[in-house]
Amino acid sequence: MAWDFETEPEFQEKLDWIEQLVREEIEPIDALWGGLEYTPPQGALREIVQPLKDRVRAEGLWACHLGPELGGKGYGQLKLALMNEILGRSSWAPIIFGCQAPDTGNAEIIAHYGTDEQKARYLQPLLDGELFSCYSMTEPHAGADPTLFKTRAVRDGDEWVINGRKFFSSNARTSSFLIVMVVTNPEVHPYEGMSMFLVPTDTPGVDIVRNIGLGEEPEGEGSHALIHYDDVRVPADARLGGEGKAFAIAQTRLGGGRIHHAMRTIGMANRAFEMMCERALSREVSGGLLAEKQLVQGYIADSYAQLQQFRLFVLHTAWAIDKHNDYRKVRKDIAAVKALMPGVLHDIAQRAIQVHGALGVSNELPLSRMLLASSALGLADGPTEVHKVTVARQVLREHRPVDDLWPSQHRPKLVAAAREKFADVLERHVGNL
Ligand SMILES: Cc1cc2nc3c(=O)[nH]c(=O)nc-3n(C[C@H](O)[C@H](O)[C@H](O)COP(=O)(O)OP(=O)(O)OC[C@H]3O[C@@H](n4cnc5c(N)ncnc54)[C@H](O)[C@@H]3O)c2cc1C
Repeated sequence: MAWDFETEPEFQEKLDWIEQLVREEIEPIDALWGGLEYTPPQGALREIVQPLKDRVRAEGLWACHLGPELGGKGYGQLKLALMNEILGRSSWAPIIFGCQAPDTGNAEIIAHYGTDEQKARYLQPLLDGELFSCYSMTEPHAGADPTLFKTRAVRDGDEWVINGRKFFSSNARTSSFLIVMVVTNPEVHPYEGMSMFLVPTDTPGVDIVRNIGLGEEPEGEGSHALIHYDDVRVPADARLGGEGKAFAIAQTRLGGGRIHHAMRTIGMANRAFEMMCERALSREVSGGLLAEKQLVQGYIADSYAQLQQFRLFVLHTAWAIDKHNDYRKVRKDIAAVKALMPGVLHDIAQRAIQVHGALGVSNELPLSRMLLASSALGLADGPTEVHKVTVARQVLREHRPVDDLWPSQHRPKLVAAAREKFADVLERHVGNL
């Protein structure tokens, strides 16, 4: 029997160290500088953040999503899940541990598909935490269905010329380079006709038209860019991976990205859950604590069970990725976890808001932001519906249709089959059945 839900003591010590650093040193940075996570830190912020990054490195916990060949620990997904569920509490923690989205996924594909020159130019500074990157795929007219993308790159001598529009390209405004998915051959099926390019953000023709925010963020100051690519010229060697390989590259990137989001979502949901419990134990109404009211106890019990279920599913999926060493073999469960994630965060944040009353919806608590984050999680890296379709397709591959008018579990059929199976015995016991 190899089922074991315990963390080995040496790693538990590391997790305890991480938890303390996040709660005591990093959450205060969130309080003062939340929203600046993807801007290279300057001044006071740099003075505070840099030593923390150094401590993380000294502890051997920097960029743990990467293998040793790329400067990480290569802990694998299960250990990463245990780390990320702590880091997910805080918006700065993933940056300080060098494992923030979308840079993790971007680093992964450059590591997989990049040439030596591309790795030296883009990957190394990314891994060193010196710059940020952007993944520019969604277009204003199409997102969930990438076969509809129109942004085009045309070969002109030893250059490619890119023209088109991209939408919701996160962190473009503070990124040093963009990974852009474009059509390179419109004559073939999009699965074979699209390629990826590495484009420095300051290349002439890259026009960040607007920075779109989420919810009530001030207009124009958000982090999701509408970008016009107008005659953007890049050298032939700016292509990442082979021509026509964009879909395969995107899958490499998104498999890891989705499960890492799920790991961090546990942390965010757990923070809302802790807040709910604290408030229930602190606030009095109608002659007693909220914690004594059965409807509130229902919120707590439902949230606890939902979070435990989700956490176990994420940890099991992470374990399966390590076991197979291949995201594709665990596609069904990654998609299922991705589809569950927004609902879990939504339900727990919503109940935590309710228990806090007016303060819950105010901008003085992080709960309404978590609610919005839950909606965003149902869209970023593909909408929930699409992931459910993936789950259903994969599940149905494991099942067969019945070769009969009646379902295989139809009782008259089962009784007839059982009578036939036990016919000898039944004959000897006439009258027993
Ligand atoms: C916070 C955030 C960050 C993001 N960051 C990036 C980024 O960095 N780079 C990037 O390229 N993109 C990014 N995106 C965009 C994201 O990938 C797209 O929003 C997503 O793929 C959906 O595309 P869309 O918004 O165009 O919606 P559409 O494709 O128009 O879909 C709209 C809705 O239609 C429904 N739907 C779609 N397909 C199906 C289907 N097959 N069956 C049933 N219903 C369906 C779903 O409800 C879906 O939400 C980000 C999005 C968010 C919210």
